[in-house]
Amino acid sequence: MIVTIDGPAASGKGTVAKGLALRLGFAYLDTGAMYRAVAFAVLRAGKACDDGAAIACLLPDIHIEMPPDRVLLNGDDISEAIRAPHVSQGASKVAAVAAVRAFLVPQQRRIGSGRDMVTEGRDQGTVVFPDAPVKFYVTADVRVRAERRQKELDMRGVATTLERELAELIERDRRDSERADSPLRQPSDAKVIDTSHRTVEAVLDEMEGVVRRCKTDRA
Ligand code: C5P
Repeated sequence: MIVTIDGPAASGKGTVAKGLALRLGFAYLDTGAMYRAVAFAVLRAGKACDDGAAIACLLPDIHIEMPPDRVLLNGDDISEAIRAPHVSQGASKVAAVAAVRAFLVPQQRRIGSGRDMVTEGRDQGTVVFPDAPVKFYVTADVRVRAERRQKELDMRGVATTLERELAELIERDRRDSERADSPLRQPSDAKVIDTSHRTVEAVLDEMEGVVRRCKTDRA
């Protein structure tokens, strides 16, 4: 059974996706990390993240593995490096390149095939797993999201300001929502969860209830 969680950057979807998978005993897939891994490979090759032709040439040599809590690019552990702000921006640029989506989407479907899995991203409920029996759209007020991102970067020792994070989030949301291929959209059949003023536990209780009810109905 596939559970999809889509939503904008820093909405809390990563935290709740991981927590929900743990509670349910499902596998967890962070598809954003795959776009980040491609951006990392493109930047490492000295190419621009919006250079579709150059990126298409690099794709055959990009091998991404996702063991629990880690991201490997051709065997190198890049789990920490892909969280850097310039990789976030790069990821939202490579994500607008059709060849990149055509490269990653079949891999995501393969990973989910025949498994119980919670998968998070921007297009999981709309494009990658349109038949998923449970879909969530997780969102939060943009200022709350910027505060969360600032705190997260702070904890990792990256100096930033609230204004800068706010501007970066707005820019990334715009790029993710306006691209032609698989833009960020709320699936029409998704349950919308606003995490702005709720605890992680309260959100998880609600989500777990939705999935367990669906499992019972399907049994
Ligand atoms: O979720 P995260 O912020 O790590 O994603 C990084 C970028 O990857 C997003 O800004 C978005 O452009 C892209 N992405 C996507 N489709 C997904 C997951 C992420 O386009 N399913």
